[in-house]
Amino acid sequence: MAERSAIDLHAHSSASDGALSPRDLVDFATGRGLKVLALTDHDCLDGIAEASAAAAGRLQLVPGIELSTMWRNFQIHVVGLFIDCQNPKLLAHLKKQRIKREERAHQIAQMLERCGFEQAYERTKAQAQPGACLTRGNYARFIASTGVCRSSDEAFNKYLKRGRPAYVKTQWGCIEEGVEVILAADGIPVLAHPRRYQMTNTKLRELIALFKSAGGTALEVASAQQRPADRQYLADLCQRFDLLASVGSDFHAAGTWRDPGLNLILPDKCQSLWQSERYADKFYVHEQRMSMVYADKDNAARQMI
Ligand SMILES: [Zn+2]
Ligand SMILES: [Zn+2]
Repeated sequence: MAERSAIDLHAHSSASDGALSPRDLVDFATGRGLKVLALTDHDCLDGIAEASAAAAGRLQLVPGIELSTMWRNFQIHVVGLFIDCQNPKLLAHLKKQRIKREERAHQIAQMLERCGFEQAYERTKAQAQPGACLTRGNYARFIASTGVCRSSDEAFNKYLKRGRPAYVKTQWGCIEEGVEVILAADGIPVLAHPRRYQMTNTKLRELIALFKSAGGTALEVASAQQRPADRQYLADLCQRFDLLASVGSDFHAAGTWRDPGLNLILPDKCQSLWQSERYADKFYVHEQRMSMVYADKDNAARQMI
């Protein structure tokens, strides 16, 4: 049986590349028993108001963002939690990011057309929410919908990630800038899914040292689909760099292992954001192990497909 955390601080809605509308995401997470959920769409705040309204009285909706940044040819994601969505510096930064993202969306489409996906931009746009800026996640879902790949994850790994035929190197701002913008908006900067960047341990330690010196606060220690050894390693790095620990499924759509709260239990040696002296007041829950064993076997089995 799967273990589920009642806190999940990284999830997407259709305001960026998630499959569910902000309202449906909140309904879905509430159904999974979550007590705290952060909405962290890619460089976009458009879903926060709808999600907050839907969450009222049911769960704590943390206003968040996931900023794309660049470090030595790696695209690094920095999550900002509890951000002030009206902050002018943040809004100006997001405007810049949107222009870059739109350019990238067209470049990716051109490369996908070379791989045989005709009208990739138009067809992906038609699947996305009106006004949403296309991300690699949108393209991954489009590719999967053509039947060429079995899932979005497979499509991402085959076509869109670094080293693959439709990978586009985008000149996002540097990590320091991303952290600075989040801090300016009173947010908590969290290094997202640190094990997903396909870098050596030495590079990862350099990245974390830079993140920390820029003012970074926490590492996303518990991610979905993570090897236990990786989670322990990240917990060790938290201690070594004096960083707090966060958890995030990076949920995009139902039916995968990245499900709200699923398998996001932190190792005991970590200090979680919600237990820390500095940030505990922001959270409605304070126990380290906000977990529950998921007893609905039918549902649990479905998630394993
Ligand atoms: Zn990410
Ligand atoms: Zn994400």
